[in-house]
Amino acid sequence: MLNRIDLRGGWRDPRALLPRAQLDVSVAVEKIRPIVEAVREHGFPAIQDATHRLDGLRLDRFRVPVEAITEAESTLEPEVRAALVEAIDRARRVHADQRRVDVTTEVVPGGTVTERWVPVDRVGLYVPGGLAMYPSTVVMNVVPAQAAGVRSLVVASPPQQENGGLPDARVLAACALLGVDEVYAVGGAQAIAMLAYGAATDAGGETRCEPVDMITGPGNIWVTAAKRLLRGVVGIDAEAGPTEIAVLADETADPVHVAADLISQAEHDPLAASVLVTPSVELVEAVDRELRRQVPETKHADRIGTALGGPQSGAVLVDDLAAGLRVVDLYAAEHLEIQTRDARAWAMRVRNAGAIFVGPYAPVSLGDYCAGSNHVLPTGGCARHSSGLSVQSFLRGIHIVEYDEAALRDTARHVVTLAAVEDLPAHGQAVRVRFQEQTGGAFPE
Ligand code: NAD
Repeated sequence: MLNRIDLRGGWRDPRALLPRAQLDVSVAVEKIRPIVEAVREHGFPAIQDATHRLDGLRLDRFRVPVEAITEAESTLEPEVRAALVEAIDRARRVHADQRRVDVTTEVVPGGTVTERWVPVDRVGLYVPGGLAMYPSTVVMNVVPAQAAGVRSLVVASPPQQENGGLPDARVLAACALLGVDEVYAVGGAQAIAMLAYGAATDAGGETRCEPVDMITGPGNIWVTAAKRLLRGVVGIDAEAGPTEIAVLADETADPVHVAADLISQAEHDPLAASVLVTPSVELVEAVDRELRRQVPETKHADRIGTALGGPQSGAVLVDDLAAGLRVVDLYAAEHLEIQTRDARAWAMRVRNAGAIFVGPYAPVSLGDYCAGSNHVLPTGGCARHSSGLSVQSFLRGIHIVEYDEAALRDTARHVVTLAAVEDLPAHGQAVRVRFQEQTGGAFPE
């Protein structure tokens, strides 16, 4: 069922051989560019038109009334409420420990640099809602933003036919549980453009989404493309596109568990990637048998079959676990499971992954909901340079520089020298001028 890639006996260019989605975000960027430009130029009518074409709904207003958010919470099924409250509580505990403290470094007597951590003022959180509904993503976006101290939080999520053109009721309920009351029923590239540029959200201009400073949250290829296009107009977290799971396993792994975990991520999207990396041919065969048995029993068998059979998914055979480790580091999976002997020791050697799930009792779906970790994670190899969403994502470190007269006098000759090296003499002069009276403009010694 899984494509096989045999890297035993060495390899020359594994990156070219590894399964990876044929996702060309740059092609998608050109497709959504007209939507983004129309929203920037025309605002409301452009959002209305895109929503009609792409979500099949003709809406007259996009701001969700606060009463609808409250109502969604009050009608929440008790077990869903309990699960969301538990997910929020665990995520809050983990993210509270990520808060940064301001640090002052005394560089020289009388000269200090303080790094002050300041939250972004206004943040737009995208919560997907095309193939699946993601109340959990509300939790994963809002909790770190609130822990960072972000004052103004706005959520955008696609309108749903079944909920009268509002976003999914559980998404709204999660907003209510977290105290978010500015919510827009807009999805896709049009939502990202609305958040970036701001727009009226009804024909009369009575409600308006003011532009945000930063947009976070996962989404499909169109959302990812819009985020790439608008990076710079607003701050953007890492690209968190169609999901990926890689499992590094040896012969001790249970094929029933491995197959279930590969399926669980394939369930997100036909473009999702599920990759098994192992030195055990027997495990690959057992997992294949399990996939053939388990996939037909799933609710979204078509989507899962497409994802598992796609070029982005596969079983990679390696000589041993050390070679497997090199493969998973090159792949840089959004989610990496380690199902081997001494799983923790192998996990601690991994350099590139969005999040790592260790041993038989930490499946990725635990992390999707209730581990306390964040599930908005870098995809497409971005884990080589980016991390998942955290409190840090919403903070800026501002350097506050304080030098007294003596400290500047002691440093002046170095500034003047470096300014001369760079042929920027006015930089040196800006220091000299401060000592003009004492030295008559001579170089302060
Ligand atoms: P989505 O909200 O991302 O996309 C739905 C929107 O796409 C619609 O509102 C519509 O306006 C727009 N759209 C649909 N077809 C279009 C087209 N042809 N052209 C332009 N726009 C179009 O919801 P989704 O589709 O369910 O995708 C969610 C994605 O988020 C999945 O790929 C899932 O794997 C991913 N995800 C990733 C993470 C992560 O951390 N990486 C976490 C959760 C979900």
